[in-house]
Amino acid sequence: MLRERVSDDIYVFTSALYAKVTAGAVVTGEGMILIDSLPFPDETKQMRAFLTRVSRPGVRYVVLTHYHADHTYGAYLFPQADIVARERCMELLIKVGIPTLERVKEEDPALEEVTIRLPDVTFDEGEMGLRLGEKVVRLIQSPGHTPDSLMAYVEDDRVLFAADTVLPVPSIVDGEMSSLRASLRKILDLSVENMVQGHGEVILRGEVDDIVKISLNYLDAIEEKVDEALKREDGREKLAQDNIESTGLSRLPLNGLVQQIHVANLLSLYERRAS
Ligand SMILES: [Zn+2]
Repeated sequence: MLRERVSDDIYVFTSALYAKVTAGAVVTGEGMILIDSLPFPDETKQMRAFLTRVSRPGVRYVVLTHYHADHTYGAYLFPQADIVARERCMELLIKVGIPTLERVKEEDPALEEVTIRLPDVTFDEGEMGLRLGEKVVRLIQSPGHTPDSLMAYVEDDRVLFAADTVLPVPSIVDGEMSSLRASLRKILDLSVENMVQGHGEVILRGEVDDIVKISLNYLDAIEEKVDEALKREDGREKLAQDNIESTGLSRLPLNGLVQQIHVANLLSLYERRAS
């Protein structure tokens, strides 16, 4: 696990075990707000041990940016904290998260003790302001990667936890194109000093707008590829072999996982439009 301090009061933790997934902690005089947790208990426990030394009141809230396993599995390690998420996240945890966890536990003993914590506080449309001590964290709904996604913007520090709305390659397999575009555009209206992606490196101020534009361009590029493929007999096969570099993105981040995400995006878009 990698630990970074991105402002006086904000730490980011990046998993060494799974796809560089990130979690964050916002420290206030009255305790901490966590943004997600790490999927494997060992790493979330390391993170918790560090945070216990940083702030005596401990973790008061855990914000879930969306229901996916890699972002939610550590929440049970903070039983004293209230869990905050979108209402949709609650529904998806019940419908998909809990049964999936039961299945993966049989395959992975490292997840044996994990249980899903359902949200205590939810909001649905628009935004919610979460206030603790002297800090306000704006929770901004950002569907697209998943229907229940949110981004967390820490006003004082100008740090945006974009979660999986921003990735080294956008992922729409469990989501939807046009809402992801709208959610990405919301970032351009915020003043951002550091942007924490759901997976991968922290993005600095000068790069934020570029990354948003690159992500929007990527969505245009895959849409064009799929439109093209729908006109051809062998369209689906062509998409399965498509190289992410033809969209302007690198195939290197996340140890090559981005290429798999790219093909999954193309095929899921193709299936949706072909039917
Ligand atoms: Zn993720």
